Amino acid sequence: MRVTDDRYCRDRLRFDLALRLIGHEARTHTIRTWTGLTEDRVRKLYRTYIAEHPQERIARRRGKSPQRCSYFLRPPRMQQEAAVLAGLFCMVGIVSHGARLDPHALSVAQGELLCLAYETYLGLVAEPRISFEHAAFLVLALAHGDELTLSHCNACGALTVDDRYALRASACGVCAPAARGLPDEAPAGPAMRAPAVPAAARGTPAPARLGPVGRG
Ligand SMILES: [Zn+2]
Repeated sequence: MRVTDDRYCRDRLRFDLALRLIGHEARTHTIRTWTGLTEDRVRKLYRTYIAEHPQERIARRRGKSPQRCSYFLRPPRMQQEAAVLAGLFCMVGIVSHGARLDPHALSVAQGELLCLAYETYLGLVAEPRISFEHAAFLVLALAHGDELTLSHCNACGALTVDDRYALRASACGVCAPAARGLPDEAPAGPAMRAPAVPAAARGTPAPARLGPVGRG
């Protein structure tokens, strides 16, 4: 009886996580990677989700998941948002020194932490550009560390996401234009939706510089 209960709880957590990922328009492959569910199960859950949330327009994304680390390195606005997200990964504990994320053995708890970090990012950043698919790719790329690495701006100490093999010392999106004698590349203004970034998010780029940007 106890074994059955435990299995029920585990399955329930998996399904809950899968529904949360569907809500973020994650691809089937991504949902399978983070929940361990079969493709058939994910397909049925899609139908369930759509039936239960008829008012929501959830896109069923197809094709390959993101694979280019360079996506997070330019333009400066993207690099800043990647740094914010990376800071949140560190805060929730899914990315940490010495910890490995094995894409073949991810736990439901790790999937929940990824969702928590991503949902916090959506709540903090005005007009966020990073999709959930890219966030899931970023967390694995940072954990793997063979192309992207976390470092600190050489001027202000903010957390930055960098090319692991970059020859120049890194500067954040705020300090890099200043060092070149250029005006800030992101407009000043009320950037974050929340009134202030949590103290634990120190190290992420200065919130006031993450202003809304036009689309396109
Ligand atoms: Zn800086």
